Amino acid sequence: MAETKYIFVTGGVSSSLGKGIIAASLAKLLQARGYKTTIQKLDPYINVDPGTLNPYEHGECYVTEDGAETDLDLGHYERFLNVNTSQANNVTTGRIYQSVIEKERRGEFLGKTVQVIPHITNEIKERVQLLGKNHEYDIVITEIGGTVGDIESLPYIEAVRQLKWELGDDNALVIHLTLVPYLSAAGELKTKPTQHSVKTLMESGLRADILVCRTEHELSDDIRRKLALFCNVKQEAVIQSIDASTIYDVPNMMLEEGLDTVTLKKLNLPDDTTPDLTQWNEFLKRHKNPKHEVTIGLIGKYVELQDSYKSILEAFIHAGAANEVKVNIESIHSEFINESTIKNKISHLDGVLVAPGFGERGIEGKIDAVRFARENKLPFLGICLGMQMAVIEFARNVLQLKNANSTEMDSTTPHPVIDLMEEQKEVTHMGGSMRLGSWECSLKENSIAREVYGKSQIFERHRHRYEYNNRYAPQMESHGLKSTGVNPKTNLVEIIEVEDHPWFVGVQYHPEYKSTVASPHPLFIAFIKAAKEYSQKKKNASLAQ
Ligand code: GLN
Repeated sequence: MAETKYIFVTGGVSSSLGKGIIAASLAKLLQARGYKTTIQKLDPYINVDPGTLNPYEHGECYVTEDGAETDLDLGHYERFLNVNTSQANNVTTGRIYQSVIEKERRGEFLGKTVQVIPHITNEIKERVQLLGKNHEYDIVITEIGGTVGDIESLPYIEAVRQLKWELGDDNALVIHLTLVPYLSAAGELKTKPTQHSVKTLMESGLRADILVCRTEHELSDDIRRKLALFCNVKQEAVIQSIDASTIYDVPNMMLEEGLDTVTLKKLNLPDDTTPDLTQWNEFLKRHKNPKHEVTIGLIGKYVELQDSYKSILEAFIHAGAANEVKVNIESIHSEFINESTIKNKISHLDGVLVAPGFGERGIEGKIDAVRFARENKLPFLGICLGMQMAVIEFARNVLQLKNANSTEMDSTTPHPVIDLMEEQKEVTHMGGSMRLGSWECSLKENSIAREVYGKSQIFERHRHRYEYNNRYAPQMESHGLKSTGVNPKTNLVEIIEVEDHPWFVGVQYHPEYKSTVASPHPLFIAFIKAAKEYSQKKKNASLAQ
């Protein structure tokens, strides 16, 4: 059986150049040529996983089927490839050290001094090669977080250097993503920062095989020649990555630049196939030629940073394309919603999504937004904390349970309609201790959920500690808040719907993690459809006036 090939993606000059998108785009092209491809992200920070990080730090925490709390780039990988990732696809320095230290405590190093080289670098190499084991993949793309030259990236660069030497040039290559800035005063693109970052890489003994150059302007032949000459690569290996209007254009742009061809050539793999991007391009066509338009309010408390709700925003793009609808998102900070601002902020919308989150800040605004959507029959989707807020709102304003709350926000509430499960009460560690990953859910007949999914049993990904308190279920049900999705083993409520409302759904899980280009999430599709219908009704009503 053929050897697994390894591609490493490093970054130079600046952070935020979009290594994840380049890695995902290349993977898409290779997959579309029939190569089984996976992607891995190595993160140089010391947190064991991003689960304990505030979204303001690195954006959303993405959750995989197996319950790993991971970097948001894994979301891009899944959305582009439509293939599940797992804990093995995201490794941090914290996890590497944790594992080396545990081995040391078990005495596995037989009295040796434990050092960055070889022990940490060996652990990194093992984690990279783990994905190539059993020949499950033809190609493994490993993205190294951070920028070359960072102190914390050094062990990773050294591990890649060793691996490249061990595997040989036919089996491993380095793609260096860099920035070619444009100096408007001089009217010129500048290659020097790229030359320097390639030099930094070489100081660690690593040569870039392919340069992907982020740029705001086309790279001329002259610039390409210069970059090739001074950075030691062939001119065909200088790939331009010009700013795109959507990340979903990047695979086609990389195809045009020949990133896949030069990659296959260097890895000595046949390139006699052409990538089949039919389905991808069909999605792009629908995305770019919408027939309708809706505006959805995204109510959250981390709205200043777009990356905090990355998967939700992308799920809207997938669902918009499926409906041929342009979805405008209005991010609304829940801390600024109150009774006097609510009408102004929400009444013009065609749908409201109350976002996931943790802690007390901004929850009253979320509850006000739920109330407005419920009372005005505005399509509503509540995700995780958003669903919990819908339960609290219903308890307070329909059941008249004064000060009903989640015990997360108010431990002494007289009506804990959202509460901890018994086993969560024992938990003292914050890291990795929530209800995580894929859980089963049975859908009840005659519900929106059952209709939307078109089946009675689903699996969805979770990331939360608190749960709907079943003690209140009889009261809630009799007043019109239905539990339409329930975990068949634990009886935990996973979906609620409000009767006498065209589209009001709250889900305890995160549907956004499972939405991909090839398989947009049914709940998001149905929510956008409901918003479209709402907006059309609104238009018809105003025409009739
Ligand atoms: N804070 C809530 C809980 O832990 C909701 C979490 C979330 O929205 N992801 O249950």
